[in-house]
Amino acid sequence: MKSQRIDQIVNRRIMLWMGSVAIIVLLISIGTMVNLFHSTDHDEVATEINDVHLLLESEKRLLEGALLLGGDESYDFTQAPGTVFEADELTEIHRSLAIHFTVIMAAPNHVLLATESSADNIGETLPVLTNKALLPILNTLPEWQTGFSPGKIATSFYMVGDRPTMITLTGLRDEADDDSNEQVMVIMGRFIDGEYLAWLEQITGSRIQLSSIQSEHEQSFNGLVEVLTSQALVHSTGQNIWLQVGRSFDWKPRLLQLFFILLAIVSVLTLGSWAVQRSLRHLVVSRIEKFSALARTSDAGDNIMYWPNEGKTELDDLAGAFNNVVKRLNNSKLNLQHQAETDYLTGLNNRHALETRLNQMVGESCKPSLLLMDLDGFKLINDSLGHAAGDYLLQQVALRLCDSMRHNDAIFRIGGDEFVAIFPHTDTSLASALAKRLLQSLEEPILYQDHTLKVSASIGIAQWQDNISGSELMRFADLAMYAAKHDGKARIRCFEEKMNIGIREQFCFEQAFRKALAERRIEAWFQPILDTQTNVIIAVELLARWQHQGQMIAPLTFIRLAEELGLIANLSELLLEQGLTELAQLRRQIPELKLHINISALQFTDHMLAHKILAHIRKHQLPSSAIVIELTETALLRYPEQVDDILKVFDNAHVCMQLDNFGTGYSSISHLNSLPFDAIKLDRSFVEKLNHADTSLTKAIYDLAHNLGLNLVAEGVENNIEYTSLKEIGYQHMQGYLFAKPMDIDKLHPWISAYLQPNNTELTSTKTSFSSTKPSAPLQTS
Ligand code: C2E
Ligand code: CA
Ligand code: CA
Repeated sequence: MKSQRIDQIVNRRIMLWMGSVAIIVLLISIGTMVNLFHSTDHDEVATEINDVHLLLESEKRLLEGALLLGGDESYDFTQAPGTVFEADELTEIHRSLAIHFTVIMAAPNHVLLATESSADNIGETLPVLTNKALLPILNTLPEWQTGFSPGKIATSFYMVGDRPTMITLTGLRDEADDDSNEQVMVIMGRFIDGEYLAWLEQITGSRIQLSSIQSEHEQSFNGLVEVLTSQALVHSTGQNIWLQVGRSFDWKPRLLQLFFILLAIVSVLTLGSWAVQRSLRHLVVSRIEKFSALARTSDAGDNIMYWPNEGKTELDDLAGAFNNVVKRLNNSKLNLQHQAETDYLTGLNNRHALETRLNQMVGESCKPSLLLMDLDGFKLINDSLGHAAGDYLLQQVALRLCDSMRHNDAIFRIGGDEFVAIFPHTDTSLASALAKRLLQSLEEPILYQDHTLKVSASIGIAQWQDNISGSELMRFADLAMYAAKHDGKARIRCFEEKMNIGIREQFCFEQAFRKALAERRIEAWFQPILDTQTNVIIAVELLARWQHQGQMIAPLTFIRLAEELGLIANLSELLLEQGLTELAQLRRQIPELKLHINISALQFTDHMLAHKILAHIRKHQLPSSAIVIELTETALLRYPEQVDDILKVFDNAHVCMQLDNFGTGYSSISHLNSLPFDAIKLDRSFVEKLNHADTSLTKAIYDLAHNLGLNLVAEGVENNIEYTSLKEIGYQHMQGYLFAKPMDIDKLHPWISAYLQPNNTELTSTKTSFSSTKPSAPLQTS
């Protein structure tokens, strides 16, 4: 999924928030501005109305001045009708001061003079006013009630009909007659409408009207708003005349103004968010992107990358903290790698390290040789002396190998007792020289507690060839080592192509053996052992037979294989089971017949061996004396302690024990003395010597056994010369082809029957000569 950019998210949020805030601000500012406009408008109109009022005041003064100018003139005219009325002057006053009428009254309804400019009758007395609404107003002037002092001028506004009118008046007395109290009222008036109002409006620039109704409003039309306000004009009657001033305001520039404010806000917002986004991008996002790109390369690569630490922001703190973690991670990774590539026991590189190294080397120009070394008989030491001894031995071997190598990192322990040395050249002679040096380093025995351990090793060398992998090189070295093992101990072999084939055959052979064992096709054969004195068949030796691809495989071959594959216990169990079953049958015919069982050296590693065999015997309801255990000196040498323990168990169970192949190994007489042997089996190699009249060793062994109180069995007796010689020395119990070859149970039965025949002269009567009566199957020797 594509990740979202933080700056864009933040920007969107800022825009959203700031947009909302902007709308609120805008609304508030519109409200405030409208209010502001209103109050300003109202203030302006209020100022305006004051100005108009002042104007009216000054008009009032002018009117009052006119009254003073024209009043007396007019009065004279009323006192002496017919005198020349200086009409021109009054007309001039009327014209220049915009007086619309002049009235002189002696009392209500008693008009002495009335001139009206509108009636174009200036200079003529008009006892009746043409404006019908004027007289009622003049009649009811409050000055009629209150009286008026001469020289005092009063000015008020009245509605004459529907015409607002400014009326100024004063009282006049006859100047010639000081005693007379008679007074007349001179009244002058001006209609504040029509041309005069237009003139006023022109001067003030406002709409002006006077009305008896107070009115204040605000109304809009065509984008204009008109604000109208009123002010009461002083009125002597108590009835107010309202001066109303209205003014129109154009909203279009104001809307334009608002629009620009809005534009400014939006621009500031946009600019602000752009700046925020840019800063975020520069300070945060681009760095986070850099970090994640680094993290991704770390994912792909081997090492975790460090984040660049550029400044002192929180991100740098984070990068610093992260880098510390990375440092720790890299360190522990290195540790882990080291652990994963190190053999815990010896401290050498392990198999994993070898694989890595080989892959590197094969990939590079350096083409190595590989020396694969396997210790000889390590398993025996490990099994007999315990794992601590085995571990110690491996550690010592590792030290010695390191001493013989120029570089310690070229030596590896790849498991168990297998070591590998990498030699960075394909030169065979040099590699062989190194192999020899390695073997020499092991020649000195290793001391462990009371034991002196002699170790040797088999080494296989494989040279790098074109187009092979590291694992193939290993396999070649393994084959070469296997061949070296096969050659005997402490050998060195270089890989040859034919080994490939040999190993394939070996593999097939192993598989076939496993299958035969699983299918219980390994057979128990029997070879009789006779008492040549009494002609009694005292025992039969249990010998294993395996027919593979129409051929009999030598027992030593597949027994060694069974040992290598760890199947020797299974094989022995199978044979023992068959052997004991047959023995139970045979003992019906020959009640004292015994079964000789061969036990190979490796079986002594099983501490329960004796118990298991005894359990089998009990299962077949046979006495423990019905079996004889044959063991070789190899077992004694390899597993002295175990042999000791196991033989004790057998001895306690009254099982007879024989030392097989006596004379072939490093026979130690002390063994014979200390261990509970009942008999020794003279090896065929001594018997053979009798053919050449060499009796010395046969005799010596006879004497030895006699002195130690041990029974003797001579095996491999093939002819009468051997038989006779043995008899002469004193040997009584014999086994060999002369009497019978090993045979399967089907052949054994008739053989026994024939042997037990009283008229079997050949076998029983002469007692001095034997011949094989029943030929057995030919045996393929390894
Ligand atoms: P071994 O215990 O010494 O067995 C006697 C060997 O001598 C047998 O060989 C037998 O066939 C052979 N032999 C008997 N008489 C004569 C003779 O007159 N002339 C000659 N040349 N050979 C004679 P085989 O059966 O080939 O067994 C070889 C070895 O394999 C045995 O030596 C024994 O060590 C081992 N073996 C055989 N079967 C078993 C078994 O079931 N378990 C164990 N652990 N080892 C066995
Ligand atoms: Ca034997
Ligand atoms: Ca033998």
